[in-house]
Amino acid sequence: MLLTVSTTHRPARDLGYLLHKHPDRVQRFSQPFGTATVLYPEATDERCTAALVLEVDPLQLARRRGRTPDFSLGQYVNDRSYAASSLLGVSLADVFSTARSGRCDSRQELADGPIPLEIEVPVLPCRAGPEQARRVFEPLGWEVVAEPLALDERFPEWGDSRYVSLRLAGEVRLADALNQLHVLLPVLDESKHYWQGSDEVDKLLRSGGSWLTAHPEREWITRRYLARSASLARIALARIALARLAELGDDDDEALEPPEAEDATQPEPARVPLNRRRHEAVLGVLRELGASRVIDLGCGSGAFVRALLDDPAYSEVAGVDVSASSLDVAARRLRLDTLGDRQRERVRLFQGALTYRDERFAGYDAAVLMEVVEHVDPSRLSALVDVVFAHARPASVLVTTPNAEYNVRYELLRGRRHPDHRFEWTRAEFSTWCREVAATQGYDVELRGIGDEDVELGAPTQLGVFRRG
Ligand code: SAH
Repeated sequence: MLLTVSTTHRPARDLGYLLHKHPDRVQRFSQPFGTATVLYPEATDERCTAALVLEVDPLQLARRRGRTPDFSLGQYVNDRSYAASSLLGVSLADVFSTARSGRCDSRQELADGPIPLEIEVPVLPCRAGPEQARRVFEPLGWEVVAEPLALDERFPEWGDSRYVSLRLAGEVRLADALNQLHVLLPVLDESKHYWQGSDEVDKLLRSGGSWLTAHPEREWITRRYLARSASLARIALARIALARLAELGDDDDEALEPPEAEDATQPEPARVPLNRRRHEAVLGVLRELGASRVIDLGCGSGAFVRALLDDPAYSEVAGVDVSASSLDVAARRLRLDTLGDRQRERVRLFQGALTYRDERFAGYDAAVLMEVVEHVDPSRLSALVDVVFAHARPASVLVTTPNAEYNVRYELLRGRRHPDHRFEWTRAEFSTWCREVAATQGYDVELRGIGDEDVELGAPTQLGVFRRG
């Protein structure tokens, strides 16, 4: 089993510092299932390559299998000695553990940033095919060459084997690259050859870091990595979803619902995520109200602005947020730069704070505050009420916020639904606030629920519909 890592970052021999292995030495590391060797086939200042060679001892591996003796020949005669399986992933993690942590006292700056890297794995078991190898590595910034290996070169008509030769090239931080390989080699192999303990979720999330959280194939990767336990996979996915939520800043509480079990015998009806239901409910009320000019206050990354624009009933749509980075994401999501003139005139995105009076908030039929009030400090809420109700003063205001009573239904939730929530209201608390705002600002208010209602706890999301009297 062989894996090589090369760099052309000058001086390339610094790779030795980053890997904590001297380029002029050959070093051996004993592994529970064989021997790992690290050596450098080339080490000049222009280009340096480190090779990890793992020799697996099938007898040692079979002995570790545990107490139940399995007399099948398969445990002695197999591909373990030749193919870069999960065992290579394990050895890589062990042999390069310091490099994987990103620590490098003598070259910390180099360890912290991306460098040009090439990684080769000449024989990689990849049951899902070369296309899947591309799908998992490309989003991480790699150029991927994954070529299927023929079953037998002498008999091309037999077709391809389940092995590929893999080459990756890209500008990636070395620690990230090693962690990616540690997770993705066994995932592509689709069979782990060692026991998974209950700390496996932590290990995955540590190695996964932010690259896994943002990966479009994160669900496939997580399920494969924790293939032996559907429940561990669900826990890991829920934690990944929570981490994403904290990163994106949006109230995407889809994250709180544990993903459906892949192995469920009965197909469940597809669950509509709560944020989608919120969008549908608020669009429904806006239609009832006959609003055509709508401002989304605290629009986050623009998902609801997108939904409004998709409906020609809205002639003018605005999105406001205090966060410039959310607005950047929103502008990309709306493809503002590619819109035609007519569409461009319908939409406005701008930065603003909802606790300071702002002329730009005025002149709309309806204002939406979707999952926003709970992000505002309680001591600043009256300022928000003044800005939205007293000053901007649209004909209607739609406020959604979590129903705190419902939180007990989220098995994995500890505390509030989002790390940035300053409070979450019970139905009674929301009702008190709404009635007071309506009374002091000259509006009528009607309270509704969004999402599946629990008889005792109510619906997961509360909605207040304010109409100017
Ligand atoms: N409405 C979106 C986002 C909700 S998250 C949705 O339903 O998914 C809350 C958003 O409110 C964040 O994007 C945050 O930046 C914004 N926000 C919080 N306090 C704000 C304030 N004082 N002024 C403007 N935006 C604010």
